[in-house]
Amino acid sequence: MPRSTKKALLSPSKITAWLDCEHYLTLKNNPERRRNRQQSRGTSDNAKTETTQEQEIGILEAPTDFADMLRKKGDLHERKCLENYKEKFGSSVFEVPEQNREEGESFETWVERVGNPMNGEYEIIFQMPFIYEGVRGIADFLEKTENNGKVVYEPVDSKLARAGAKQGHLLQLLFYTEAVEDLTGERPEKIHVELGSGERESFLVSDYWWYWQRLRKKLIQAVETDSSTDTKPEKCSHCGICEFYWEECRPEWRANDSLVFLSGLRKTHQEALNEVGIETLTGLAAIPESHLSEISKENFDEESEQAFQTAINIWAKKSGNNLDSIHSEWKANQNRLPEIEINQLIKLWRQARLQVITTQTKEIPTHFFSEQEMLEKMTEREKSKRGESLLHLPEMNEHDIYLDFEGHPFWQIEEGIIFLFGYIEKKDGEWEYVQLWSHDKTTEKEKATKLVEFLHDRYKTHPEMHIYHYNHTERALLSDLMNDGDPTSSIVSILGHNFEDSPPEKQQLDELVNAGAFVDLLAVVRNSLQAGTESYSLKEMELLAGFIRNRKDLPEINQQDEDVNEDGSIDKGAGAVFEFELYANADLYGIKKDEDRLKRIADYNKDDVEATRQLHEWLINKRKENKELPDRTSPIPEDQEEETKSEYIQRVEALKEKIINKIEEERSGI
Ligand code: SF4
Repeated sequence: MPRSTKKALLSPSKITAWLDCEHYLTLKNNPERRRNRQQSRGTSDNAKTETTQEQEIGILEAPTDFADMLRKKGDLHERKCLENYKEKFGSSVFEVPEQNREEGESFETWVERVGNPMNGEYEIIFQMPFIYEGVRGIADFLEKTENNGKVVYEPVDSKLARAGAKQGHLLQLLFYTEAVEDLTGERPEKIHVELGSGERESFLVSDYWWYWQRLRKKLIQAVETDSSTDTKPEKCSHCGICEFYWEECRPEWRANDSLVFLSGLRKTHQEALNEVGIETLTGLAAIPESHLSEISKENFDEESEQAFQTAINIWAKKSGNNLDSIHSEWKANQNRLPEIEINQLIKLWRQARLQVITTQTKEIPTHFFSEQEMLEKMTEREKSKRGESLLHLPEMNEHDIYLDFEGHPFWQIEEGIIFLFGYIEKKDGEWEYVQLWSHDKTTEKEKATKLVEFLHDRYKTHPEMHIYHYNHTERALLSDLMNDGDPTSSIVSILGHNFEDSPPEKQQLDELVNAGAFVDLLAVVRNSLQAGTESYSLKEMELLAGFIRNRKDLPEINQQDEDVNEDGSIDKGAGAVFEFELYANADLYGIKKDEDRLKRIADYNKDDVEATRQLHEWLINKRKENKELPDRTSPIPEDQEEETKSEYIQRVEALKEKIINKIEEERSGI
């Protein structure tokens, strides 16, 4: 079959980016639509570069930032797969000669030069470049098989993901499948992914073929009709690794006072607000109270109302805008309220008001929920989490512990590591910082064991003590960024993870958990108050508590502006990971093992635990100051009797029972 001569436009990884976000293609194909036309930072290829071939496993160039580190890990994984193939097939592994970039060889010329090596001579072909129907790409591996007596080459990609192949991985492989068929006339039967866990996942091409065909049609249409230029940036899962985030979309959202900066806003909320003509954060905040009929004065007190009016006046003066103009579309919609459950809408509206006050006055206001609201939140939670509100927050005690950890999800390709458990304890009237480091999985378990034994002993001697932590949003966010399910984003689950096959430690940990010894202050904050901040990360909450960091922050990755924001916390978390990577894998990169890196991480960790302690103190003081709340710790609500359970809980339980019955019926073949 003839090879397509169409001009190369996109790589498969760009297609997967487009799947998440149509605006990506607009910016990619239309430089005139970009704010910064010269360059873009970051990467959308989160696993590895497509057009470079690294040297043999051995010394790698040290990564320059977090995204580069992930690329290097991807390249390393690919190299390991190649070594495995070589071990098995020896000289029957064909490594495609590299593109001669130094002499200006274009991708098209390279493809021509490589030709078609899929003639049956080689068992494995490594780094095969293709151009087909306006898409270009390099298949990691092509594996020779036979189908009905004919030689067929099946595409194999190496991916860092451990939990399983993602949609984007399959689409890339389907592109290679099509390109192989175009070149050889034989369609591969299967495609394969070599996962970071060391396992292989295989898929039947026929199961996905028509989906891929439909998708390609849509893509070609988008490219050829240029309809993609009508798009606008919509926040999605790709933003975290998108090359356009920092220099294009985020500044655009900021300039437009976008709702994406509203803490707690979901995509469905944003759609509902846009539907009635509310497009900006200030526009939402400025909805008059009278329009939210169920609202009462208690939900936004007089002081906050005054602060909001001041903020709006500052905004009007600075922007030359007025409420009539930002509400013109909403008015055209007869001031209709969005289809969001009323309590949720009030919460978002209040959050918008608090954030507008912070933006305009630089003071961070707070709103504490009423005792009744906190109680309602608690009674609907499972027993071990029923104390996570300001009402039930224990008073400070000199035997308390404040704990935090640092982890690296890609320390090794196959597994991550918690490399530091840090805590403070009071000794002779002074808070002392203790750091427990691990540099491999054996020491990680030893340190986790040591920590749990210490906590358990302390609890046995001082049952009034608690272990305070601020659940690690950074780690959870990093895990999301990599699209890899990570069950270990909270302190308790991390410790539990280490004791899956160690019953004595597991028992000690369970005892602490069941006794309510662990207190997650993030949960307490979320269940007790709203603040005028764009996220509820520790870095933002510590500002309320007046905490000032002693140590300089770790290098921030890809952060350009000074705004404190949700994404900033990822960068700082990523900074600790990046520092540890350069320390732990120094040999791999041929650099000096710099002990200062560990010191910087420990300083950062120490600040976190101290900030957690100060936040605890601030919360206790706020409870005392609040005339509407009891000034001391309230007892945790007991299990409710059937008749006193809320209507909601009763409905959930009835539904649960129905589902279980249905499953049992189906299992027993009824
Ligand atoms: S930053 Fe987000 S919205 Fe902007 S192009 Fe990238 S994925 Fe799309």
